[in-house]
Amino acid sequence: MDLEDKLLMMPGPVPVAPRILRAMSKPMINHRSMEFSKIYDDCRKSLKKIFNTNNDIFVISGSGTAAMEAAIGCTLGKNDSIVAVENGKFGERFKIIASRYGKVIPAEFEWGESIDLDLVEDKLSEGAKAIAMVHNETSTGILNPAEDIGKLAKKYDALFIMDGVTSIGGDEVMVDKWGVDIAVVGSQKCIGAPPGLSMISVSEKAFDLMEGVDSVPYYSDLKAYKKSADKELTQTPYTPAIPLFYGLQESLNIIMEEGMDARINRHRTFAMAVRKAMESMDIEMFPSLNEYSGYSNTVSAMKAPESINGNDLKREMLERGIIIAGGQAHLSGKIFRIGNMGNINANSLLTTLQSLETVLH
Ligand code: PLP
Repeated sequence: MDLEDKLLMMPGPVPVAPRILRAMSKPMINHRSMEFSKIYDDCRKSLKKIFNTNNDIFVISGSGTAAMEAAIGCTLGKNDSIVAVENGKFGERFKIIASRYGKVIPAEFEWGESIDLDLVEDKLSEGAKAIAMVHNETSTGILNPAEDIGKLAKKYDALFIMDGVTSIGGDEVMVDKWGVDIAVVGSQKCIGAPPGLSMISVSEKAFDLMEGVDSVPYYSDLKAYKKSADKELTQTPYTPAIPLFYGLQESLNIIMEEGMDARINRHRTFAMAVRKAMESMDIEMFPSLNEYSGYSNTVSAMKAPESINGNDLKREMLERGIIIAGGQAHLSGKIFRIGNMGNINANSLLTTLQSLETVLH
């Protein structure tokens, strides 16, 4: 079986539509030209609609983690503190990044557990400059309460930095309404493009609080991104990954054609279909929810049944040509995950669920 026969049903990278691949094969252009400027402007315009924001948006040539680091590194000085909310692998990543730039006030929960808002509020009341949280925790399939965290951030006048890497473009994200000062997304998830780009929105308040921050990362200095974007010909500070920008522009065209409401509805319906199928196969969902959390609408995480280890399950699916994900770190073997991000269609989803049934029975 060669690569073209495989069905990618993991939580990113996702299958890339042929028209996106074709768009990426266009000739190179000068990145300081009107042509590039138009592509970048076009992408930023669509991204504002997807993020639901009037804030500035930039595209970084680097994966989602690059944007996470840009967010933290540009706002957190050595003497500043940040509440890092962790209930999975990517919350942990925020905490680790933050520990390299400033002081971390950890708000830690078991991976897969819901966030306790009272505990987060206690941590915020210690006087943090910012709070960082992952909206859709891909490693555990839980949807964290971004709007509630936004309210708490406002109450304590802290910047709200949100990882929307696997929610933006697939699920509802209201950056302005929720008070998200910095939001980040990766190209290879719900946006449906190849890996390699990340997109980041930045509020005016976040820019104001960047003044005086020491040890800002050079490559992902958001003030440099703003300066270049504000030029007459919109630019990036350094040479952008031009073919990926072609791909991003086309994937954003697809999103605009589908419409965000329809796209969110499709993601939610597909995730619900996965959950119903699991219920009928007696497979338990992994996250434990409380009244503020939800199951992810873009990736479902399930406990591996007693009969089969999660990694063996993943291998057996691969033998059938379907790539799903296992658990990360200490969850390896214990859980398995099915993604339904980007431009996945119903056929792909049904094929995945059917194959899973044959593996399990
Ligand atoms: N944040 C979340 C929620 C993710 O799911 C991922 C990747 O899976 C990342 C951050 C890191 O993104 P990347 O691998 O693009 O650097």
